[in-house]
Amino acid sequence: MDRTEFTNKLKELATEGKTTAELYNEISAYAMSYGLAKATKPATRNAYYLSMEFLIGRSFYNNLMELGLLDETKEILATKGIDINVFEEIEDAALGNGGLGRLAACFLDSAAGLGLPLQGYGIRYKYGLFKQAIKNGFQVELPDDWQRFGDPWSKRCENGKRTIKFADMNVTAVPYEMPVFGKRTNSLRLWQAEGSEEAQKISEYLYPADDTEEGKILRLRQEYFFSAAAVGELVEKHVKKYGKRFDNFADYNVIQLNDTHPVLAIAELIRILTADYKVSFPTALEVAKKTFAYTNHTVLPEALECWSADLVKKILPDIYALLIKLHLKQQEELANLKCTKEEAVEMSIYSSDKFSMANLAVFVGKSVNGVAKLHTEILKNSLFKTAYKYYPHKFQNKTNGVTQRRWLMLCNRELSELIDDAIGSGWRNDISLLNGLNGHIADIADEFIKVKEQKKEQLFNYIKWQEGVEIPNSFIVYSQVKRLHEYKRQLMTAFAILEIYKGLKDGSIKDFQPSLFVFGAKSAPSYKRAKAVIKFINEIAGKVNSDNDTNGLLRVVFVQNYNVSYAEKIVAGTDVSLQVSTAGLEASGTGNMKFMMNGAVTCGTMDGANIEIVERAGKENNYIFGAEVDEIERLKKDGYEPFKVLKGNALHNYAVSTLIDGTFSDGDTGCFKELYDALTVGASWHKPDNYFVLYDLESCVNAILKINGDYKDKKAFAIKQLKNVANSAYFSSDRTIKEYANDIWKI
Ligand SMILES: *Cc1c(COP(=O)(O)O)cnc(C)c1O
Repeated sequence: MDRTEFTNKLKELATEGKTTAELYNEISAYAMSYGLAKATKPATRNAYYLSMEFLIGRSFYNNLMELGLLDETKEILATKGIDINVFEEIEDAALGNGGLGRLAACFLDSAAGLGLPLQGYGIRYKYGLFKQAIKNGFQVELPDDWQRFGDPWSKRCENGKRTIKFADMNVTAVPYEMPVFGKRTNSLRLWQAEGSEEAQKISEYLYPADDTEEGKILRLRQEYFFSAAAVGELVEKHVKKYGKRFDNFADYNVIQLNDTHPVLAIAELIRILTADYKVSFPTALEVAKKTFAYTNHTVLPEALECWSADLVKKILPDIYALLIKLHLKQQEELANLKCTKEEAVEMSIYSSDKFSMANLAVFVGKSVNGVAKLHTEILKNSLFKTAYKYYPHKFQNKTNGVTQRRWLMLCNRELSELIDDAIGSGWRNDISLLNGLNGHIADIADEFIKVKEQKKEQLFNYIKWQEGVEIPNSFIVYSQVKRLHEYKRQLMTAFAILEIYKGLKDGSIKDFQPSLFVFGAKSAPSYKRAKAVIKFINEIAGKVNSDNDTNGLLRVVFVQNYNVSYAEKIVAGTDVSLQVSTAGLEASGTGNMKFMMNGAVTCGTMDGANIEIVERAGKENNYIFGAEVDEIERLKKDGYEPFKVLKGNALHNYAVSTLIDGTFSDGDTGCFKELYDALTVGASWHKPDNYFVLYDLESCVNAILKINGDYKDKKAFAIKQLKNVANSAYFSSDRTIKEYANDIWKI
C-alpha cells in the first residue's frame, strides 16, 4: 500500500456502528501494510537484543507518528466526527515490569530511528503485567488480557516455527513479528509457546510467582524457551546463508543479553554447535565469546539469578552438562590467570550446587556493561570486583537513555513545537541539536510556563477520567512514579508529605505554594511491604485531601495502573521529578530522564543517572539532597541507629508514629506495624531502616520546601526547568544506542 492508497482507504473507512477496537484494528492494518511495503532490506551484520521484557506501551500513536501518518489520520478521523484520542481506550501492551523492559522498547525505537540493524527477541505473553486497581486503598491485581483488543501490529510467522526440547516435553515456539518503524524497519520477534497445556503455560504470564518449585521450573522454561528459539533461528539462518561454518558467525551476529534472564542463550549456542554441527567445544566457546555481550541492571542480590543445578539437570540435561563443562573450562582459565582459590570460587559459574547466570555472562561475554556511570563503577569496585581485576577490558559503561520520539515529540507536542519555534525542527532528526536551546531559554520562558500549564490541565483531566479525582489548577506537581520498592523510598516521600501537612496545620510552614503529589506504582503481588506502602499513601491521600484546612494547599493522588500511557501524561505535566532512591541502589533510572526532557527539575539523591543529569543540567537547576554512596557505606560500616534519629526529631516521630498510633487504618492486616518494625527494629534478614529512610528524611523535606519557595518566582523556576530540557539530549536513547553500536556491536 502506498501513501495515496492509505489516504483513500482511511477516507473510505466506514465508521458507523463500529467499536473503537474495530476501528483500531482496521486503521492499524492499513498503516501496517503501508509501513511494511517500504520495509528495509535485511542487513548482513545484525545486533540482537534478547530480553525477557519489552514494555512497549501503546503502538498506535507511536507507529502512526513514525510512519508520518499521525496528523493526516487525525484530520481524516476528525471529518468523520472521531477524536483520535478515543484510541486511548486500547490498553497498553505491558510485556514488561518497569525500567528494564521500557529500556528494551526505547532501544528498538532508537535503533530503527537511526537506521541501525537491531532486532529484538522476547516472549509473547498472553497476559502482560497485571492491571492494578486500588480498592479501599489496597492494590488489587487483575489479569492483563491485552490481546482482547486484537494485535494488529504483529504478524504470526507460521513458517518460523521451531521445536524447543525439554527433558519432559517438546514445545512449539511460534514467532510473532512486530515491525519497528523508523529510518529502517527492524523487527521484534516475540515467541509464543504452543502444544500441550503444559507447553502453553510457558508464554502465559510475565513473571509467574516463583516461590514454589513449580514456579521456578516454569521460570526456567521461559528463559530457556525464548533464548533457545532465538539462537536456534540465528544459527539456522547462518547455515542457510554461509554453510556449516561458524568461524564467521560472530562477523554477522552479535547478541546483547538484557540482564541475566537470557543468559542460557550462551549454553544453547554452544550446545547447537557441538551437538548438531560437530564443532569442538573449545571452538564453539570461542564463537560464543565473540558473539555475546551482557548488560547488568542491578546490584540487588535477589536479581542476580542462580539456578539450582538439580533443577537444570532435571529440565535441561544437555544444558546442565554444558554448564558443567563451561565451569571446568572457566576454572582452568582462572588457574592460568593465577587467581586465588577464593577468587575462583567468587567468579565461578558453578558453586554450592548452583549455576550463576551473572558469572557465566561475565566469563563468556565479550563486554559487560553497567547502565550509568556510578553503577558501572560499583560493578567494577564491588559486585564484579574480582572479574574486573582479571578481565578489565570487558567492562564498560553505557548510560541509559529514553527515546525522545515517544517521550517528548509524542507525549508533549506543545513543548516540541515551542522548541521548533526557538531552534528550528532539526533536533527532531538529530537530538544533539537540542543543546542549541540553551541560547534561547530566557526568550521562551513565558511560553514554556503556558505549555506547562496546558500539560498540567491535560494531566488533571486524565486523572479525573481515570480516578474520578478532581484537582484544582495551578498546583505545583511533584511526581514519584515507578515500581514500588523499598529502595526507591516512596515511604520517605510519604513521611515528608505528612510532615509538611503537619506544618501547614500548625502554621509552622507559611507561604506555601499549592502542591500536588502524584504517585503511581505497582507492587510485586507477593511483596508485602511494598503493598503496605501503597495502602499507607492512600490513607494519607484520604486524610490530606479531605482536610478543608489544608486541601487548598496540599493534595495527594495515587493513580491506578501506572503504565507507559499514564507515564506519557505524567512526565509532561510534572514540575518536580522525585528520584529519591538510597544512594548506590538505583542502577540508572530512566523515569528521571523522561521528566528532565519534559522540563521537570529533579528532586533526588546522588544516585544512578541523577548524577549525570545534574552534571549536565547544573546542580543549581536541580535539588539534590541526602547521603551519597560513601556516606551510606560508612554508615553501614560504623553502624547507624535510626532510633536515635527518631528520638531527636519530633516531626519524624509524628510521621513515623502514624503507622502505629491509629491515625490510619491498615484494615487490620498488621502491615503498617511491619513497616514500623522494619524501620525501628529491623528483621531477621536486615538491620533497622536498611534503606536509610529516616537518615535522609529531613533533607528530603527541606528539598521539597526549597523547591516550593523557589517556585514563587515562576519565571526563574521555568528557566531552571528549561535548562533541564535543553541539556537532555545526552539522555536520548539515540545516544546510548550509538554507543552500543560503536563500542560493542560494531554495526
Ligand atoms: C520509565 C518507566 C519506568 C521506569 O521508571 P524508573 O523511575 O526509572 O524506575 C517504569 N514504568 C514505566 C511504565 C515507565 O514508563
